[in-house]
Amino acid sequence: MTVRHEAPATGDDEPLEVWIDQDLCTGDGICAQYAPEVFELDIDGLAYVKSEEDELLQDPGATTRVPLPLLQDVVDSAKECPGDCIHVRRVTDRVEVYGPDAE
Ligand code: SF4
Repeated sequence: MTVRHEAPATGDDEPLEVWIDQDLCTGDGICAQYAPEVFELDIDGLAYVKSEEDELLQDPGATTRVPLPLLQDVVDSAKECPGDCIHVRRVTDRVEVYGPDAE
């Protein structure tokens, strides 16, 4: 299960953040397999993003920064997400660059 995809075209140092729409999460755990540093399943069976301090962020729409070395894993997670509920966006203007709402 190592399908690789190109990362979205953004500036090299463009800060990105990611959030999950738990209403659509199927709980399959693909994201947590691809990028366990960023995604984790909680005991409710749904996936959440984690802070840089490894803390689960359970507020609806909570975002966390995408560490550049993990960008490809996060993009792959969004591509493979069966719920289409992983959203990657630019921090500066909150435009989605990868996910169901990306152009
Ligand atoms: S890949 Fe998508 S549907 Fe699956 S657990 Fe992660 S966020 Fe939920």
